[in-house]
Amino acid sequence: MKINSVVEGLSLVLILGLTSSLTASEAEHGKAHWSYTGESLPAHWGELKPEFHTCKDGVNQSPINLTGFVDANLTEIPFDYKTGSTEILNNGHSVQVNIASGSTIEVDGIKFELKQFHFHTPSENNINGKSFPLEAHFVHASKDGELAVVALMFEEGDENKMLGQLWEKMPMKAGEKTKLEIADVTTILPKERDYYRFNGSLTTPPCTEGVRWIVVKKPTTLSKAQIEKFAKVMGHPNNRPVQGTNARMIVE
Ligand SMILES: [Zn+2]
Repeated sequence: MKINSVVEGLSLVLILGLTSSLTASEAEHGKAHWSYTGESLPAHWGELKPEFHTCKDGVNQSPINLTGFVDANLTEIPFDYKTGSTEILNNGHSVQVNIASGSTIEVDGIKFELKQFHFHTPSENNINGKSFPLEAHFVHASKDGELAVVALMFEEGDENKMLGQLWEKMPMKAGEKTKLEIADVTTILPKERDYYRFNGSLTTPPCTEGVRWIVVKKPTTLSKAQIEKFAKVMGHPNNRPVQGTNARMIVE
Protein backbone atom coordinates (compact mmCIF):
# COMPACT_ATOMS: atom_id res chain seq x y z
CA MET A 1 0.00 0.00 0.00
CA LYS A 2 2.72 2.42 1.02
CA ILE A 3 4.90 1.42 -1.90
CA ASN A 4 1.97 1.89 -4.27
CA SER A 5 1.38 5.37 -2.92
CA VAL A 6 4.99 6.29 -3.43
CA VAL A 7 4.94 4.89 -6.96
CA GLU A 8 1.72 6.77 -7.70
CA GLY A 9 3.29 9.91 -6.34
CA LEU A 10 6.41 9.44 -8.42
CA SER A 11 4.47 8.79 -11.61
CA LEU A 12 2.47 11.94 -10.97
CA VAL A 13 5.72 13.86 -10.73
CA LEU A 14 6.71 12.40 -14.09
CA ILE A 15 3.33 13.13 -15.68
CA LEU A 16 3.40 16.73 -14.56
CA GLY A 17 7.00 17.00 -15.65
CA LEU A 18 7.96 18.57 -12.35
CA THR A 19 11.47 18.94 -11.11
CA SER A 20 12.59 17.37 -7.86
CA SER A 21 11.32 20.40 -5.95
CA LEU A 22 8.27 18.42 -4.81
CA THR A 23 8.66 15.26 -2.75
CA ALA A 24 6.69 12.17 -3.70
CA SER A 25 4.37 12.57 -0.73
CA GLU A 26 3.60 16.18 -1.56
CA ALA A 27 2.84 15.23 -5.13
CA GLU A 28 0.67 12.40 -3.84
CA HIS A 29 -1.19 14.86 -1.66
CA GLY A 30 -1.83 17.04 -4.67
CA LYS A 31 -3.29 14.19 -6.67
CA ALA A 32 -7.03 14.38 -7.14
CA HIS A 33 -8.15 11.35 -5.09
CA TRP A 34 -10.98 13.64 -4.11
CA SER A 35 -12.22 16.90 -5.50
CA TYR A 36 -14.81 19.64 -5.30
CA THR A 37 -16.32 18.94 -8.73
CA GLY A 38 -17.05 15.87 -10.86
CA GLU A 39 -17.44 12.30 -9.62
CA SER A 40 -15.24 12.63 -6.53
CA LEU A 41 -17.08 15.70 -5.20
CA PRO A 42 -17.81 16.19 -1.47
CA ALA A 43 -21.07 14.18 -1.48
CA HIS A 44 -19.06 11.12 -2.56
CA TRP A 45 -15.93 11.56 -0.38
CA GLY A 46 -17.12 8.95 2.14
CA GLU A 47 -17.23 6.27 -0.58
CA LEU A 48 -13.95 7.00 -2.34
CA LYS A 49 -11.75 5.08 0.10
CA PRO A 50 -12.39 3.09 3.30
CA GLU A 51 -10.16 5.62 5.14
CA PHE A 52 -12.61 8.38 4.21
CA HIS A 53 -15.65 6.77 5.87
CA THR A 54 -15.89 9.51 8.53
CA CYS A 55 -16.80 11.95 5.73
CA LYS A 56 -20.19 10.20 5.56
CA ASP A 57 -20.50 8.53 9.00
CA GLY A 58 -19.21 11.38 11.18
CA VAL A 59 -21.62 13.35 13.37
CA ASN A 60 -19.25 16.20 14.29
CA GLN A 61 -18.28 17.26 10.80
CA SER A 62 -17.07 20.62 9.54
CA PRO A 63 -17.89 23.10 8.16
CA ILE A 64 -21.18 24.17 9.76
CA ASN A 65 -23.52 27.12 9.88
CA LEU A 66 -22.62 28.81 13.16
CA THR A 67 -25.80 29.94 14.90
CA GLY A 68 -27.69 29.58 18.20
CA PHE A 69 -24.69 30.57 20.29
CA VAL A 70 -24.30 29.63 23.94
CA ASP A 71 -22.60 32.16 26.20
CA ALA A 72 -19.49 30.65 27.74
CA ASN A 73 -17.20 33.49 28.82
CA LEU A 74 -14.43 32.26 26.56
CA THR A 75 -10.95 33.35 27.52
CA GLU A 76 -8.71 35.19 25.09
CA ILE A 77 -6.50 32.90 23.03
CA PRO A 78 -2.82 33.75 23.45
CA PHE A 79 -1.38 33.99 19.94
CA ASP A 80 2.39 33.70 19.97
CA TYR A 81 3.23 33.79 16.29
CA LYS A 82 6.98 34.45 16.17
CA THR A 83 8.06 32.72 13.03
CA GLY A 84 7.45 33.43 9.39
CA SER A 85 6.49 31.53 6.30
CA THR A 86 8.75 29.25 4.33
CA GLU A 87 6.87 28.53 1.12
CA ILE A 88 3.54 28.88 -0.64
CA LEU A 89 2.14 25.96 -2.57
CA ASN A 90 -0.80 25.18 -4.79
CA ASN A 91 -1.87 21.60 -4.05
CA GLY A 92 -4.88 21.68 -6.38
CA HIS A 93 -7.29 21.77 -3.43
CA SER A 94 -6.12 25.07 -2.00
CA VAL A 95 -3.23 27.47 -1.80
CA GLN A 96 -1.22 26.85 1.35
CA VAL A 97 1.46 28.77 3.22
CA ASN A 98 3.82 26.61 5.29
CA ILE A 99 5.18 28.08 8.51
CA ALA A 100 8.55 27.59 10.19
CA SER A 101 8.27 25.89 13.58
CA GLY A 102 7.94 27.99 16.73
CA SER A 103 4.61 29.83 16.37
CA THR A 104 1.98 28.71 18.85
CA ILE A 105 -1.44 29.27 20.38
CA GLU A 106 -2.71 27.86 23.65
CA VAL A 107 -6.16 26.29 23.96
CA ASP A 108 -7.47 24.31 26.98
CA GLY A 109 -3.99 24.58 28.52
CA ILE A 110 -2.45 22.80 25.54
CA LYS A 111 0.15 24.34 23.23
CA PHE A 112 -0.62 24.00 19.53
CA GLU A 113 1.98 24.86 16.92
CA LEU A 114 1.01 26.65 13.72
CA LYS A 115 1.88 24.40 10.78
CA GLN A 116 0.27 26.09 7.80
CA PHE A 117 -2.61 28.21 6.65
CA HIS A 118 -4.68 27.95 3.49
CA PHE A 119 -7.77 29.40 1.89
CA HIS A 120 -11.27 28.46 0.74
CA THR A 121 -13.55 30.36 -1.64
CA PRO A 122 -16.34 30.85 -0.86
CA SER A 123 -16.10 30.35 2.92
CA GLU A 124 -16.75 26.87 4.30
CA ASN A 125 -18.28 27.89 7.63
CA ASN A 126 -21.25 30.23 7.55
CA ILE A 127 -22.14 32.63 10.38
CA ASN A 128 -25.89 33.04 10.99
CA GLY A 129 -26.51 31.74 7.48
CA LYS A 130 -24.05 34.15 5.90
CA SER A 131 -21.35 32.94 3.53
CA PHE A 132 -18.17 34.96 2.97
CA PRO A 133 -16.09 35.26 -0.22
CA LEU A 134 -12.96 33.83 1.44
CA GLU A 135 -12.03 31.92 4.60
CA ALA A 136 -8.52 31.23 5.89
CA HIS A 137 -7.73 28.20 8.06
CA PHE A 138 -4.73 28.38 10.38
CA VAL A 139 -3.94 24.75 11.16
CA HIS A 140 -2.23 23.99 14.48
CA ALA A 141 -1.12 20.68 15.95
CA SER A 142 -0.19 19.72 19.52
CA LYS A 143 2.73 17.45 20.41
CA ASP A 144 0.23 14.60 20.65
CA GLY A 145 -1.15 15.29 17.20
CA GLU A 146 -4.38 16.98 18.31
CA LEU A 147 -5.57 19.70 15.97
CA ALA A 148 -6.85 23.24 16.47
CA VAL A 149 -7.96 25.33 13.50
CA VAL A 150 -8.42 29.09 13.68
CA ALA A 151 -10.77 30.29 10.94
CA LEU A 152 -10.77 33.85 9.68
CA MET A 153 -13.48 35.24 7.40
CA PHE A 154 -12.89 37.86 4.73
CA GLU A 155 -15.49 40.17 3.26
CA GLU A 156 -15.19 42.37 0.20
CA GLY A 157 -13.76 45.80 0.99
CA ASP A 158 -10.31 47.34 1.21
CA GLU A 159 -7.38 45.54 -0.33
CA ASN A 160 -5.61 43.22 2.09
CA LYS A 161 -1.88 43.96 2.25
CA MET A 162 -0.82 40.54 3.53
CA LEU A 163 -2.88 38.77 0.87
CA GLY A 164 -1.30 41.10 -1.67
CA GLN A 165 2.13 39.71 -0.71
CA LEU A 166 0.86 36.15 -0.80
CA TRP A 167 -1.07 36.43 -4.07
CA GLU A 168 2.02 37.87 -5.74
CA LYS A 169 3.88 34.61 -5.04
CA MET A 170 0.89 32.28 -5.40
CA PRO A 171 1.69 29.41 -7.79
CA MET A 172 -0.81 29.38 -10.65
CA LYS A 173 -0.77 25.62 -11.25
CA ALA A 174 -1.55 22.63 -9.03
CA GLY A 175 1.61 20.91 -7.81
CA GLU A 176 3.76 24.03 -7.86
CA LYS A 177 5.37 25.80 -4.94
CA THR A 178 7.45 28.91 -4.43
CA LYS A 179 9.75 30.09 -1.65
CA LEU A 180 8.04 32.68 0.47
CA GLU A 181 9.56 34.67 3.28
CA ILE A 182 7.13 36.69 5.30
CA ALA A 183 8.52 37.51 8.71
CA ASP A 184 5.34 38.13 10.69
CA VAL A 185 2.15 36.31 9.82
CA THR A 186 0.33 37.86 12.80
CA THR A 187 -0.47 40.91 10.69
CA ILE A 188 -3.12 38.94 8.82
CA LEU A 189 -5.16 38.55 12.03
CA PRO A 190 -7.48 41.33 13.17
CA LYS A 191 -6.62 42.97 16.50
CA GLU A 192 -10.04 42.07 17.85
CA ARG A 193 -10.02 38.30 18.20
CA ASP A 194 -13.31 37.42 19.90
CA TYR A 195 -14.33 34.04 18.63
CA TYR A 196 -16.89 31.25 18.39
CA ARG A 197 -15.88 27.76 19.32
CA PHE A 198 -17.12 24.27 18.53
CA ASN A 199 -15.87 20.75 17.94
CA GLY A 200 -15.56 19.66 14.38
CA SER A 201 -13.48 17.87 11.80
CA LEU A 202 -11.08 18.36 8.95
CA THR A 203 -13.09 19.78 6.05
CA THR A 204 -11.17 17.58 3.59
CA PRO A 205 -10.79 13.79 3.48
CA PRO A 206 -10.28 11.85 5.71
CA CYS A 207 -12.64 14.28 7.58
CA THR A 208 -11.07 13.29 10.92
CA GLU A 209 -13.04 14.50 13.96
CA GLY A 210 -11.85 15.87 17.30
CA VAL A 211 -10.65 19.15 15.82
CA ARG A 212 -10.98 22.25 18.04
CA TRP A 213 -12.50 24.97 15.84
CA ILE A 214 -12.02 28.63 16.68
CA VAL A 215 -13.81 31.03 14.34
CA VAL A 216 -12.78 34.68 14.68
CA LYS A 217 -16.00 36.75 14.88
CA LYS A 218 -14.76 39.85 13.12
CA PRO A 219 -14.15 39.43 9.41
CA THR A 220 -11.26 41.18 7.75
CA THR A 221 -11.33 42.53 4.21
CA LEU A 222 -9.94 41.86 0.78
CA SER A 223 -10.61 43.60 -2.50
CA LYS A 224 -12.80 42.33 -5.33
CA ALA A 225 -9.69 41.89 -7.48
CA GLN A 226 -8.08 39.77 -4.74
CA ILE A 227 -11.16 37.53 -4.52
CA GLU A 228 -11.18 37.13 -8.28
CA LYS A 229 -7.47 36.34 -8.47
CA PHE A 230 -7.76 33.49 -5.98
CA ALA A 231 -10.94 32.12 -7.60
CA LYS A 232 -9.22 32.15 -10.97
CA VAL A 233 -6.16 30.27 -9.71
CA MET A 234 -8.37 27.62 -8.07
CA GLY A 235 -10.59 27.38 -11.14
CA HIS A 236 -13.51 26.07 -9.04
CA PRO A 237 -15.05 26.70 -5.62
CA ASN A 238 -13.04 24.84 -2.95
CA ASN A 239 -15.54 24.74 -0.10
CA ARG A 240 -17.12 21.66 1.37
CA PRO A 241 -20.88 22.31 1.89
CA VAL A 242 -22.06 22.92 5.47
CA GLN A 243 -22.66 19.76 7.49
CA GLY A 244 -25.28 18.97 10.14
CA THR A 245 -24.60 20.54 13.55
CA ASN A 246 -26.35 17.59 15.29
CA ALA A 247 -25.94 17.69 19.07
CA ARG A 248 -23.09 20.19 19.11
CA MET A 249 -23.01 23.44 21.01
CA ILE A 250 -21.43 26.51 19.48
CA VAL A 251 -20.15 28.70 22.25
CA GLU A 252 -19.11 32.35 22.21
ZN1 LIG B 1 -9.37 24.42 5.24
